[in-house]
Amino acid sequence: MSKKQFKAESKRLLDLMVNSIYTHREIFLRELISNASDAIDKLYYRTLTDGDTGLNREDFFIEITPDVQQRTLKISDNGCGMTKEELENNLGTIAKSGSLQFKGDAQPKEDIEIIGQFGVGFYSAFMVAEKLEVKSRAFGSEEAWCWTSTGADGYTVEPCQKESHGTEICLTLKSNTEENQYDEFTDPYTLKNLVKKYSDYIRYPIRMEMEKRRPIEGTDKDAEGKYKVPEYETYKEMETLNSMVPLWRKNRNEITAEEYNTFYKEKFMDFEDPLKVIHSSTEGTATYNALLFIPARAPYDYYSKEYEKGLQLYSNGVMIMQKCPDLLPDHFSFVRGLVDSQDLSLNISREMLQHDRQLKIIASRLEKKIKSELESMLLNDRETYEKFWKNFGLQLKYGVYADYGMHKELLQDLLLFQSSEEKKFVTLKEYVSRMKEEQKYIYYACGETAERIELLPQTEAVKEKGYEILYLTDAVDEFALRMLMKYQEKEFRSVSADDLGLETEEEKKEAEKQQEEHKDLLSFLKEALEGKVKEVVLSRKLKSHPVCLSTEGAISMEMEKVLNAMPAGEKVQAQRVLEINASHPIFQKLTELYPDHPETVKEYASLLYNQALLIEGVSIEDPLAFSNAICQLMVERK
Ligand code: ADP
Repeated sequence: MSKKQFKAESKRLLDLMVNSIYTHREIFLRELISNASDAIDKLYYRTLTDGDTGLNREDFFIEITPDVQQRTLKISDNGCGMTKEELENNLGTIAKSGSLQFKGDAQPKEDIEIIGQFGVGFYSAFMVAEKLEVKSRAFGSEEAWCWTSTGADGYTVEPCQKESHGTEICLTLKSNTEENQYDEFTDPYTLKNLVKKYSDYIRYPIRMEMEKRRPIEGTDKDAEGKYKVPEYETYKEMETLNSMVPLWRKNRNEITAEEYNTFYKEKFMDFEDPLKVIHSSTEGTATYNALLFIPARAPYDYYSKEYEKGLQLYSNGVMIMQKCPDLLPDHFSFVRGLVDSQDLSLNISREMLQHDRQLKIIASRLEKKIKSELESMLLNDRETYEKFWKNFGLQLKYGVYADYGMHKELLQDLLLFQSSEEKKFVTLKEYVSRMKEEQKYIYYACGETAERIELLPQTEAVKEKGYEILYLTDAVDEFALRMLMKYQEKEFRSVSADDLGLETEEEKKEAEKQQEEHKDLLSFLKEALEGKVKEVVLSRKLKSHPVCLSTEGAISMEMEKVLNAMPAGEKVQAQRVLEINASHPIFQKLTELYPDHPETVKEYASLLYNQALLIEGVSIEDPLAFSNAICQLMVERK
């Protein structure tokens, strides 16, 4: 019998399949099982509509039969089967294959696009098989046909024997190579795992004969009737490998918390229950079920490059992607779970998926859903939310800052900061709601820990007014607030800023006058600190401390620290301003010394500047000189 040729396009696709652009060869099994399930669906539909097929739902099944010796793997179903013409049309040419019609006019530029357009389906079997035999008997027909192909050189169709309707696909696996052990697909445990992984929720039983061991009856006692280790025999038993009903398709009120938790832990390899389960189904522009989880703890690699975000993606109960990153925005990358869409094609490629409109709609719905769930957790279960915040809050703050602040509106109400007032976490909303009437700004202070911030002299004036201060202890915090700029029309203001907006007009004038009075001394001090500070001023915020640093311009001391800690890039420097407390005795001393002992004033300027740096948590240039100068003072003191 002469070989028939595949159509040109089919040949090209076959080449691609054989040289597999697909990294996961194992998906061939999912494809064949899903075809089998479709074929059963078709026949089952007929049994429902015709009524006289004599078949029941329970009669349908898919069977997998590996043969180690022969290096073959059979996948059979008792679905609708194919006639000779159907075999030729469906498997002989790709143009007919799949629900996607070949677009003859548009010549795809990239091979990848071809795969996306045609669907990989049946042909994926060539990724692992050197020969395919498809025996099929259409339901209601007496004859059976066998389609055989060894790849791109074509195929034959011959009559054959087949007991009953349906299709049986026999793969002769390729020889093993160094990288690929094709015979792993004859190992029952590998197959079982693959079915669990990709096809667990196929609605018909997927069966395979498994070898098992059991004690031989009557061998558990010796001749004297004493118990002993029994002898074992192996036997074979048909096992159904798939669970058939997806949890996410069930009704929410039919599922216990326990079921959700077990499902999560098994599927996502966590040993702790999730902090939150989000189960939602929608219909309309996008029809899908989503089952999402917020883990109780950040994975150890969460804040590293190794962490990959993404949700499992199913198309009608069949898994098509293990981790689809496009379903989750970065700020919610901690969410795990799955989405089962009714509108996605099973055979869509990764590359096509990125541009899929349905997927975009789903992703944006999920983002809103996750946000509203977090919001209600914040409102109704603060304790759990704070647990969540400790693990993933940083990610939300990065989210505010990332992409030029594109997501700040979405995220701002989910933020928590430590507060000076209650020594606990507060939201921006809570802060603003209890702002004093005359209070202009939302104040914040930066430092390593809340305890250290407490001690900052810059906070004195704000605290004295009785205003609350947000304590920022993460590197990203100030960047995030700067990105937000305002919350409910209230601007953020660092306690280190030059103008804190605390004074009345009169107080301001008074301060300016005083500044003018000591003009000479202040510019002398500035000169003494040449290159280190931009300005030396009389402080308007210090109450009891002698000195502190503040900054002018866009970069704060805290930002300077963060930016300079980054491995690459130029070093930046905040424009520092040394503030001196005019009511502190040290200032009195400076004014007294200035006329006759400018050299001493110069030394003191350096000492005061270094003190301010230390208070700020910045290391000083010459600790040795600083220490010596202090010793000198100690020696001089009577
Ligand atoms: P798709 O599954 O996307 O349609 P395939 O290349 O996998 O593309 O299959 C081509 C066609 O072959 C299917 O549409 C179906 O009509 C037919 N087919 C494949 N497998 C079977 C099967 N097990 N039983 C009956 N028909 C099948």
